[in-house]
Amino acid sequence: MIKHVSRHAPLEACGLLAGKNDRVGKVIGIRNQAQSPVRFVMDPHEQLKAFDWIDSNGLDLLGIFHSHPAGPETASVTDIAEAAYEVVHVILSPAGTGWKARGFWIQAGTAREIVLEFS
Ligand SMILES: [Zn+2]
Repeated sequence: MIKHVSRHAPLEACGLLAGKNDRVGKVIGIRNQAQSPVRFVMDPHEQLKAFDWIDSNGLDLLGIFHSHPAGPETASVTDIAEAAYEVVHVILSPAGTGWKARGFWIQAGTAREIVLEFS
């Protein structure tokens, strides 16, 4: 995730997290069709291809990640309004010289933070 979002900063970058049993095994970067520093729209063709790949590898879609190169660390009003999948939404924002990842479960117009574990 960090590699993908650093490469695209200061534009927002986005992608999918796939895996099994709440454990991410694959990070798939998706082109941000909006090419914007404050918005992301996943390229629908790449997104479809990624969904196919996830299916054919017997994995589940566990999360969607995107960056906020200029902050905030949390899900924006737009993120909450546009959340289309009931999966974890990971937001990456700059922290010092690197990035920080926070996870949110977005449902019915509210975002609840969930603890991410890295191993
Ligand atoms: Zn956002």
